Amino acid sequence: MDKIWIGTNWKMTKTLAEGLSYSTKLKSISKEISPNIELFIIPSYTALLPIKEIISGSSIQLGAQNMHWEDRGAYTGEISPKMLDEIGIDIIELGHSERRQYFNENDNAINKKVLAALKYNMKPLICIGENLEQKNNNISKEILATQLKVCLKHLSEEQARHVMVAYEPVWAIGEQGIPADAEYIAAIHTFIRDTLKVLFPDAGIDIPLLYGGSVNQNNFLEYIEIENVDGLFIGRAAWDIESFQYILKQL
Ligand code: PGA
Repeated sequence: MDKIWIGTNWKMTKTLAEGLSYSTKLKSISKEISPNIELFIIPSYTALLPIKEIISGSSIQLGAQNMHWEDRGAYTGEISPKMLDEIGIDIIELGHSERRQYFNENDNAINKKVLAALKYNMKPLICIGENLEQKNNNISKEILATQLKVCLKHLSEEQARHVMVAYEPVWAIGEQGIPADAEYIAAIHTFIRDTLKVLFPDAGIDIPLLYGGSVNQNNFLEYIEIENVDGLFIGRAAWDIESFQYILKQL
């Protein structure tokens, strides 16, 4: 069976103490899950270093939620790829819709971050997705194609082999989110795969394509069966360790 990527972005939800307790439990759970699962967690910056120590020796991969593209400089409040490399980050989440929406992040900035991450051998997890208005105007595919094209600009085939893409329709994310139909996800993931194959004729077929947005205990089994869904990127349903354990054990 193929690998499946299962991970969670904690957003700004866990204190250091909560993060440490969660990671300790997840480390023991990780020993009992299918070896096909590539498991990752994306905590807040303040928890990265101690969590790196807790999960050492396990198969859990560690990610960060954002970064700047420069190595150092006068950028108050920012974290650089060099700093994350020092911690030993495996995955860097880029372009989550909350970053785009609340912090004006755009595809060109995300592209610079992708290139910077690759220099440090961190795996960019690039989030793309249309909002409700765009979906209702039937321009989802155009929006997604542009996001992919710009975020992946200037990447070689070899570099493309190290990125991952998460399709996260904005209208399906968070408390106000409406879970997407499996048919809709299937159609969009096929479209994304086809677009990746055009952008990268060799690597495009192998780029892991995750789905995220209201993934929960009732829909994860249906979602993971969809063609071209290589993994799930989970928010709320993975923040409680028992809920995440429930999901992980059935995959
Ligand atoms: P959700 O969040 O699973 O809570 O909808 C998903 C995400 O924002 O990545």
